[in-house]
Amino acid sequence: MIDLAPLARRLAGSPLAEWAKGLQAQLDTKLAKGHGDLARWRSALEALPALQPERVDLLDSFTLDTDCDDATRAQVHQALMGLSPWRKGPFNVFGVHVDTEWRSDWKWSRVAPHLDLQGKRVLDVGCGNGYYQWRMLGAGAESVIGIDPNWLFFCQFQAMQRYLPQLPAWHLPFALEDLPERLEGFDTVFSMGVLYHRKSPIDHLLALKDCLVRGGELVLETLVVPGDERQVLVPEDRYAQMRNVWFLPSVAALELWMRRAGFSDVRCVDVSTTSIQEQRSTEWMRYQSLEHFLDPEDHSRTVEGLPAPMRAVILGRKP
Ligand code: SAH
Repeated sequence: MIDLAPLARRLAGSPLAEWAKGLQAQLDTKLAKGHGDLARWRSALEALPALQPERVDLLDSFTLDTDCDDATRAQVHQALMGLSPWRKGPFNVFGVHVDTEWRSDWKWSRVAPHLDLQGKRVLDVGCGNGYYQWRMLGAGAESVIGIDPNWLFFCQFQAMQRYLPQLPAWHLPFALEDLPERLEGFDTVFSMGVLYHRKSPIDHLLALKDCLVRGGELVLETLVVPGDERQVLVPEDRYAQMRNVWFLPSVAALELWMRRAGFSDVRCVDVSTTSIQEQRSTEWMRYQSLEHFLDPEDHSRTVEGLPAPMRAVILGRKP
């Protein structure tokens, strides 16, 4: 049972108050349907030892620490391993370094300098295991709600939340389509690594805009290709071995989509090529990773012969 009463209290008096009232029932319905692996993941969560972090850093990393003996640390390690594969992180949990597939801290260091999250009510769409939610709190956000339909990521979030129960971060196992239309209650909305999975990217931008208050900011991070505003790649089949990739625009095309979707002050603040140091297999994510998805002879191409992953961060405002 996850008690959303603190979330409803936090949102009382905000434009999200009505929505918040129905969330407990919506969550309980989802949980009742559940997922075949939930019981196993729940027992991993229950195996986490009770510890009180004495030192917490969310600004420069995700680090929880306290004096803890080797046996307890081994328990933390084993319980968190039970929630593998870990894709987004890294998390430092009482001396256990969860070395995730992605160096999400690198992405955060490209995004965070361009934002002012102080006092902001934030929504993170496709939040994964919530890694960025904690970092957003570290950057001063007032509260952060993450939504992501993936149950494993939901459980990974609970693992961290168990040690930070007082912090205003909530993870809801919902898709963006599960939110009511015209929520218009968040100061900042993030969509990172989601747009290229959408079949209707402009509808995605419109749905994100619907979640924002007037004057609120969208932070969009997605895969892009080189070229001018007329350049958009639709892979014939897979892209870097991913089956569910639809639209990879150029930065100029993406900025145009944002303007057409009604955003103002649209600007690109970062473009980076993903390196095989940033996305790789580790002890915590043993499947294949970027290195295996690139042409072994030419890392500027994917195995399908398409441009290698390059990602842009675009900001826009809802007028
Ligand atoms: N934001 C994180 C994770 C990106 S991976 C990051 O930037 O690292 C993309 C995530 O989007 C996955 O966790 C997936 O479960 C989630 N997702 C896919 N479709 C979604 C939808 N319709 N609504 C919300 N999240 C979605």
